[in-house]
Amino acid sequence: MQALEQKILTEGIVLSNHVLKVDAFLNHQIDPVLMQQIGQEFAARFKDQGITKIITIEASGIAPAVMAGLELGVPVIFARKYQSLTLKDDLYRSKVFSFTKQTESTIAISNKHIHSTDKVLVIDDFLANGQAALGLIDLIHQANAEIVGVGIVIEKSFQTGRALLLEKGYRVESLARVESLENNQVTFVR
Ligand code: 5GP
Repeated sequence: MQALEQKILTEGIVLSNHVLKVDAFLNHQIDPVLMQQIGQEFAARFKDQGITKIITIEASGIAPAVMAGLELGVPVIFARKYQSLTLKDDLYRSKVFSFTKQTESTIAISNKHIHSTDKVLVIDDFLANGQAALGLIDLIHQANAEIVGVGIVIEKSFQTGRALLLEKGYRVESLARVESLENNQVTFVR
């Protein structure tokens, strides 16, 4: 997706060979026009799949997931990273190792929102080693719902996530595929 790649090149900050900071338009400040285009692109790639729900993880997955939900006309559920006071019982839970924080956390959703008849699209901001996506997939499995695919805003193709998800049979659609962050430069898969 050209507009996204351009935004990454102009406003992304390479923090290390493995971490890209996009606080200017995705992870802190959000560019609504770009988010709308991202939603349209996800919707175009996954239309005609009979999707009934989108699932993401708080906080940075919410903006692109909501825009995709708006385009596809389906509700969006975001998994919470901790058990809040209002989310007590009837939870599906999964453990996720966080790439950025290097700690394990529990993610959870209420079982009220996903059912065995649902066809679910997973959306997240980044794909690194695939742990967040696999955690979300685990929640969908617990609900006996169908996984239609995984939509990622920025995939770091030099990490293992994509291969892991493909190996397990999931469709992966990434809007920007970063080949390398070496020498302080972002290059894309062509
Ligand atoms: P994974 O679970 O695939 O290893 O990592 C994906 C998760 O870690 C995403 O939900 C995202 O929040 C975070 N993440 C991974 N790599 C990056 C990165 O380079 N930059 C930012 N901002 N977040 C990242």
